[in-house]
Formats: sequence, C-alpha cells, structure tokens
Amino acid sequence: MADHNQRIEAVIFDLDDTLIDWARPAVTWEEYNRSKSEAIHQHLLAAGHTLPPYDAFHEAVIAQLRRTWEEAKKTWEIVSFEAVLRHVFAGLGLNVEAIDMQELLQVYSWGPFPGVILYEDTIPVLQELRRRGYKIGLLTNSIFPMWMRDVELHAYELMDYFDARVTSGDVGYLKPHPEIFRHILELLQVSPEQAVFVGDRPENDIAGANEAGLISVLLAPPHLNRDLNGVKPDFTITSLTHLLTVLEELEKVSGIKYQVPGEGALARPKSIS
Ligand SMILES: [Mg+2]
Repeated sequence: MADHNQRIEAVIFDLDDTLIDWARPAVTWEEYNRSKSEAIHQHLLAAGHTLPPYDAFHEAVIAQLRRTWEEAKKTWEIVSFEAVLRHVFAGLGLNVEAIDMQELLQVYSWGPFPGVILYEDTIPVLQELRRRGYKIGLLTNSIFPMWMRDVELHAYELMDYFDARVTSGDVGYLKPHPEIFRHILELLQVSPEQAVFVGDRPENDIAGANEAGLISVLLAPPHLNRDLNGVKPDFTITSLTHLLTVLEELEKVSGIKYQVPGEGALARPKSIS
C-alpha cells in the first residue's frame, strides 16, 4: 500500500459483481443480447435499410464486439459501443450517416440483466458512506455510454449515491489503464491517496487502482473465485459491509478521527500532515 497519511475523501466502486450481484443470472449473456440486437435489426429494417437476415446481423454484431474486446485487452484502450455498431453497419453496406445512432441506442434498450440483483448490503453501505461524508464514484469497464448503464442504476435505486460516474465507453480506456482512474479522480476532485477503489477483478480493478496510487480493496464474495495472478490488493473483503471496517482502519492510519457532519467537527478535512 502506498504511504497513506491523508484522510480518505472518496470511495470509488466498480459496478458489476461489486455493487450488483451476478451470482445467479436468469438468462445467458447471449440470450439477453439477442433480444437487443433483434430490436435494432427491426428498427433498421423499418427505417428502410437493407439488411441480412437477423441471425447473420446478430452474428456480425457479436463478432465485432468480440474483436473489439480482444483488441482492447492489448492496450486497455477501447472504442465506444456506438463505434462498434457503426463499424458493423458500414461492413454491411449501410449508409451509416443516415442512421440516428442515439435513437438506435435507445432502441437497444439496455437495462437490468435478468436475475442480477443488488447485494443485500449495497444500499446500506452506500447510505453509511454518505452519512460519513465520503464522496462516492462509480467506474465501470462497460463499453456502453454511462447513460445506458444509468438505466440500471435507476432501476436498482442507486442513482442518487454517486458524485461521479464513468464508463470505459465514454472515456476510451479500460481499467487497469491509469487514464480512466485519473479521469474519475479529477471528476471527484481528489488525489489518488485520498481515494479507495473497490472492485472484484484483480487484473482490472486492483492492479489498476494500485498502479494509479489508490488504496485497493478486493471484493471477493463467495460466488467469485478469481485468481489473483500475483496482484496484491491492499485489503480483501467478502462483503461490502466489511468496507466500513476497512475505512475505519484507514482513519486510524491517517490519524484523523471521522466525525459525522453536525456533530461539531469538520466532517471532511481537506488535508492533514
Ligand atoms: Mg466487476
């Protein structure tokens, strides 16, 4: 762990398998995505575009998504979902300029994945972090723009807890690239030493947070058994509730005693020596 003598100002979370629980999805990824690409296939046909049959169209979308992710893992830079679709449409000979991509993404209609739920302590922990005065950030390796993932945040009633939210699709980088960490820190106006990052993927969340100088917390709930591959989290927890204890430990290290706003002390000291 980096030398931490500053009070933690912000807690930044990964989304999937960190704030929402993917232990028991009700459908496969393939099944869920088929319904989405079917919707845009129908939308494009209705708009007068000439398209291959649905199965071929769907396969073209999936294949380009796979290629995009494979390519992205080489450099941790990634294009937007919109760019992926544009590439597919151009390859199918469509007049891409004639397509309203924002409308198309609305039609794609991303939302909560069937069977994916909140952990039982997600909202209580977020509420407690708020009560303690921490800024809260969200940083997800999603290729979708944030507004598409916001649909889920609204559905899970998480939306009001975040001071800043960032997706890889919007920023152009995936965790562990330092640029995406720098981006959210800037939005939250905190330095790396003032931030804790919580995530479930060692290679992306923990290695990235470590490299960027944040305090890393690996969430390792029972349904996940991720190989650390030599990555060293500063802390490992098995439920989000344990994060509260970690933060209390960090308060001790910083030498600053947290006090609740309204209880007579500065809730969030800007800096300490
Ligand atoms: Mg995750």
